[in-house]
Order: sequence, then C-alpha cells, then structure tokens
Amino acid sequence: MIDYFEDPYDNWSMDYDNLRLSYSGFNCYVQCPLQWRFKYVDRVPQTREPDKSLVFGSTVHGAINRFYNGTDRSMDALQYCLDVEYKERYFVAGGPIFPSHEEDLYEARRQLRLLHYRHEREGLLDCPFRSELKFEFKPREFKGVTVNGFIDNLFFAKGVPQIVDYKTGSTRYSQKEVDENDQLTIYAMFAKSKGMDVEKCAIHMTKFDSKIFTKRTTEHFQDLILRMEEVVERIRSQDFPATPSFKSCRFCPFNKMCPESMCK
Ligand code: SF4
Repeated sequence: MIDYFEDPYDNWSMDYDNLRLSYSGFNCYVQCPLQWRFKYVDRVPQTREPDKSLVFGSTVHGAINRFYNGTDRSMDALQYCLDVEYKERYFVAGGPIFPSHEEDLYEARRQLRLLHYRHEREGLLDCPFRSELKFEFKPREFKGVTVNGFIDNLFFAKGVPQIVDYKTGSTRYSQKEVDENDQLTIYAMFAKSKGMDVEKCAIHMTKFDSKIFTKRTTEHFQDLILRMEEVVERIRSQDFPATPSFKSCRFCPFNKMCPESMCK
C-alpha cells in the first residue's frame, strides 16, 4: 500500500490579500467550503491509496503531452509515448500498483488510437499548438487574486485558436454541460486577457471518441466573474461551512477525518 503525503507546511499561513484560485480550487469551494479550508488553509495532509481512474487519466494526459512535445506525429510515436508514461506511472518500486494494470494499458491504447485518427482528420497534428499550457492572470475585477491553471491543448488549426480539455473517464458530458463548463470559461478568460478571441473550445471525451464544441461570450465571462467574486469575498471573510452531500463527501480526501462527512 502506498501513501501519498502533501508537505505539511509547518509555518504556513494563508495570505487572504493575495489569493491564488484555480478552477479546481473554485470548484472545491463551491462543492464544500470546509473541504477548501482543509485543503488550502489548514493544509491537512492527504493520505490516500492511489486512485485508479486518476492514474489512468494522468497517464493518457501525459502521453498526449509527451507526443506533442516531440517531433514525430505518427501513431507509433503516440503509442510509444503511452508506453513511457505507463511504465512511469503504473510501476513503483519495481512492481505494478494495481493488479489489473494491463487492462488500463489496452484501454489507453484504444483511446489514443481514436484520438490520433481524430486529430489527423481535424488537421491538429501539424498545426501550431501549446501543450499543457501553464497560465496565470489577474482579472481586473478581483484585487489581489491570481487565477491559474493548465490548458491541456491550445491549437491554432488554420490560424483559429481552439482550446481542448481532455476527459478520460466514464462521464458523458451533454452539449448543455459543455456550454456551461466553468473550466473552459476560465481558459477562455485567460486567452482573452492575452488579447486572443477563442472561437472554439471543446471537451474531448476520449473514452467515447466524442468531442463537443462550444463558444464563450461576454455573458459567460460576466456570469463567472460574479460567482467568483462571491467565492473570493466568502474566503476572505473565512466563511467555511460544511455542505456535506453524498457526491462531494464520496470523493473528498478528508472524508475519514471530517466530522460532517456522509461517507466515513
Ligand atoms: S467530507 Fe464532506 S462535509 Fe467534510 S469536508 Fe469533505 S465534502 Fe465537506
């Protein structure tokens, strides 16, 4: 059994005047403010067994990123990148971390084969791009707040900017969910802050070879800014109530120690 520990940050104290907020941090607060406090203020060490779906997701994402950072755009090159990532992520201390690791490898191969066909059809293999683009920007609406994150892929096929976020799990997003997805809105806000109007944003569900496109407008930005402003204000006033629900508590890394947990 492997334990993962975050640094305990002995002398840590939250700087409420200079907050950093990613999409996952924002979403964490929306799901349950107490979870946000445990994670970002108290920095409670997260001790968990490795999560199979997370390891699978990071392996597929890692293979795509490795592929785009190389120069060979063939299917073989993509499968080679997968092999490298699989060995690095599924084998620790000389042995596999899950008994059924080979099933994951076959499934990842299948997903990446379909992804390669799709990228070829869409002209993404040879266009300019950025991969795992790390970003941060300071929206003028929030004083002292830095919004940060990573964009899986930013392509410029025929000069048109296209943001793509990959999802490797079993969730099927509807068009409505993609249209309202806050993660894509934050990415498009960042692009806008750099003077780039992103005409296409997409969630690519690699398991289903399904890619749903959407657009982002001023209304999306204004709506998200209002909700983020409220979250920032509540964090600064140290408002961290527990809002337990089966959905949030089930995946919460603190569900064993939290007195409000619905999933001990
Ligand atoms: S276990 Fe549930 S109530 Fe407790 S912090 Fe996590 S999400 Fe919130």
